[in-house]
Amino acid sequence: MEHVDVLIVGAGLSGIGAAHYIQTKCPWATYAIFEARDAIGGTWDLFRYPGIRSDSDMYTLGYSFRPWTGEKSIADGPSILQYIKDTAAESGIDRRIRFNHRIVRADWSSAEARWTITAERTDTGEIVELTCGFVFSCSGYYRYDQGYRPDFDGMDRFGGAIVHPQQWPEDLEYAGKRVVVIGSGATAVTLIPSLAETAAHVTMLQRSPTYIASLPAKDPVARLLSRILPRRWSGPAIRWFKALTTQAMYALSKKRPELVKRMLRKAAQRQLPEGYDLDTHFTPRYDPWDQRLCVVPNGDLFKAISAGSASVVTDHVDTFTESGVRLQSGAELEADIIITATGLELLFIGGIELVVDGEKVDLPTKLTYKGMMLEGVPNFAIAVGYTNASWTLKCDLTCDYVTRLLNRLHDTGLTTCMPVNHDAAVSPQPLLGLTSGYVLRSADRFPKQGSRFPWQVHQSYWRDYRALKMSDLDDDAMVFTGPVAQRTVAEPAIASAS
Ligand SMILES: Cc1cc2nc3c(=O)[nH]c(=O)nc-3n(C[C@H](O)[C@H](O)[C@H](O)COP(=O)(O)OP(=O)(O)OC[C@H]3O[C@@H](n4cnc5c(N)ncnc54)[C@H](O)[C@@H]3O)c2cc1C
Repeated sequence: MEHVDVLIVGAGLSGIGAAHYIQTKCPWATYAIFEARDAIGGTWDLFRYPGIRSDSDMYTLGYSFRPWTGEKSIADGPSILQYIKDTAAESGIDRRIRFNHRIVRADWSSAEARWTITAERTDTGEIVELTCGFVFSCSGYYRYDQGYRPDFDGMDRFGGAIVHPQQWPEDLEYAGKRVVVIGSGATAVTLIPSLAETAAHVTMLQRSPTYIASLPAKDPVARLLSRILPRRWSGPAIRWFKALTTQAMYALSKKRPELVKRMLRKAAQRQLPEGYDLDTHFTPRYDPWDQRLCVVPNGDLFKAISAGSASVVTDHVDTFTESGVRLQSGAELEADIIITATGLELLFIGGIELVVDGEKVDLPTKLTYKGMMLEGVPNFAIAVGYTNASWTLKCDLTCDYVTRLLNRLHDTGLTTCMPVNHDAAVSPQPLLGLTSGYVLRSADRFPKQGSRFPWQVHQSYWRDYRALKMSDLDDDAMVFTGPVAQRTVAEPAIASAS
């Protein structure tokens, strides 16, 4: 059976980044990327709705090793996809990808110190097996085959098109049409200004309001830094600047929620018509950052509302009718197209069944180690980004840490690294600290974080930088093991330094 040192799951933003790290920092390692789809890019290839763009800045969503040099800080989906493809092509990573390979199962054998991977070919149905020393899951966090859509009453009665943004029909004609977008999350606020350019009218139908912040599409400070600093300094300087200011805004939201509420409200008020009902439509019932804050570049959503091409209705769907939606208030919204921007179905590690020495890993009972490994699961890491900042900030740190682990194993001849919790006082807590519906719906299928280091998930770049980049690999939890015969340096068979 074919064997590689590292198997990367997924060829999205994280998988391509992981491959870069392994190629450059572990040149000794053989690796392959198994990708379930037939394309690079993950999220940035899958989502094709009008106006698709990032909602965090590209200086931190881009890789640290290949700073984003595009004009716009909030970039459109096609530019992000091109950036990922270019990164993969530049260093031959694209040649390591096996497309149409969905990994369904990974079996760890302690006796052999390796994983046996089972993948299903999504094009032919063939089963493919290989073994690897380490699995690096870069599979994102949601289901690709379907998004989340509640069962609205009367959906089959509606005479127009019902579309989920995750499956946007290429030929959907919305110019001159009345569109209702159900939802108020990042996807809804991205779609609406774009649709409003040509639709007859777009209504954002939300159950409850979301905090929305307007940011300049082109970041003036980043542009200044890139003009005055040499290129090799401007990339890291802008990245740190953006990482720290985003973090500071998050910290302020947590410490002084009332102040941040007032700031966001004032900013929205400035951009909306006089007398606009902010209390009903833009005043959430939760504190800023209890749920993800939405960003609109150059206030485009507020502009569409002010221009009259878009409007907001805060109410609940009672039923779909032949010609639109009836609301619980009794009001009716006429529509030719209804877009259910109702979110994602979360999925951990791409739905892979993990088995360790014949025993199925029960994910909800496991703690995450530094937000990137699982308690009791050997030679397995996960690239999961932040909920309160750009995804890649954390994934870059995780990749760097994984390469250190791999090099430790390689240099010592040890074969296995595995986090083990020896601290009885650590209590399990939900993995993600958000109260959003999509997080709460799936919390019971996800692993947990622990109440103290190193089992906590920080959602803080600075703290993770210390925990992953600056810390020693040895701590109370990480256990390195390996066959004595293979060891090349004098280390105990079990090295778990405190
Ligand atoms: C519409 C949208 C906008 C977003 N905007 C932002 C943003 O502005 N900023 C931000 O920080 N984050 C954003 N995110 C989160 C976003 O998903 C991440 O930024 C990032 O793209 C995730 O990259 P990834 O490679 O980890 O995962 P993905 O992009 O999800 O890629 C995962 C890849 O793994 C493959 N895969 C999954 N399971 C398996 C399996 N079992 N076997 C083989 N292959 C598998 C998938 O096919 C896919 O190609 C956004 C998400 C969405 C949906």
